[in-house]
Amino acid sequence: MTEKLSRAQPVEVSKNDGEPRFAHPSEKEFAQILDFYGLRWDYEPRSFPLRWDDDDKVLEMLTPDFYLPDLELYLELTTMKQSLVTHKNRKIRLMHELYPEISVRLLYRKDFHRLLAKFGFGPLIESGVEGIDRVLLTERQINQKVEELGKRISRDYAGKQPVLVGVQRGMVCFMADLMRKLPLPLMMDFMSISDYGGDEHTGVRITKDLDIDLTGQDVLLIEDIVDTGMTLNYLLGHLRAKGAASVEVCALLDKRARRIVDVPIKYVGFEVPDEFLVGYGLDHMEKYRNLPFVAVLRAEGG
Ligand code: 5GP
Ligand code: MG
Repeated sequence: MTEKLSRAQPVEVSKNDGEPRFAHPSEKEFAQILDFYGLRWDYEPRSFPLRWDDDDKVLEMLTPDFYLPDLELYLELTTMKQSLVTHKNRKIRLMHELYPEISVRLLYRKDFHRLLAKFGFGPLIESGVEGIDRVLLTERQINQKVEELGKRISRDYAGKQPVLVGVQRGMVCFMADLMRKLPLPLMMDFMSISDYGGDEHTGVRITKDLDIDLTGQDVLLIEDIVDTGMTLNYLLGHLRAKGAASVEVCALLDKRARRIVDVPIKYVGFEVPDEFLVGYGLDHMEKYRNLPFVAVLRAEGG
């Protein structure tokens, strides 16, 4: 037995550079789905010897189609053909026995999305993917970042009682997640502003102001995304005029390349490219806010 175990070592599959040569169209389709969700993958990276003859010659092995490093998972794709499934199931069972520390599973074509949904990906399948180009920030990346920001903010505001101010409505996911990472006695309030897009002359206008009196308070303005910086610039002026002790900004996304007004942002989640983003609170004509990740909207006509 010990002898057998010592032979159970994965073998790296040598590869040429460039596009992997998929053995089956469904593999390519799966790779595209993984790309869409921003999940890294490796096609057939290694083989797992399963059976040897007396001279240690490998008689049988399994080369799983995909390895997903983010999930530490090997996947072998299969069709519904029963003879194939039985054969592959046997191999997977052998692999579980010989390589117990490695996660591997058989995946039916129809289960692609269900598997990804189980790992927090794939909700779009029900709510409609049309309009989305690709996922920019996965749910996992966002969670990690929110956790980091929460730690920094908690440290900086230790002993204080900040007022979190959100500007409706894009910050809803970010603020809800972030505030639960702040073990501080905090308060929260919201304001609404008009779109500056319509009439250039009116500029930003407050349509619903804060209810909490900010005099002497430590205010932390929570923003979904800072683009030109015009909105933020206006809001900072408005909040400072209320006699707060301090006003700082925490923005999940920073589209720095588009900045016109130089505004100080103390806490930034991610710097993002100059593309139109939706999801995790961000909308396009009020749609897509409920996506658990941040995605790039497909360019019109694209
Ligand atoms: P700024 O005044 O910085 O140009 O604009 C900031 C506001 O524009 C954000 O609060 C957000 O409402 C909107 N915005 C800017 N870029 C995007 C984007 O990529 N996607 C979405 N959904 N809204 C954006
Ligand atoms: Mg906004």
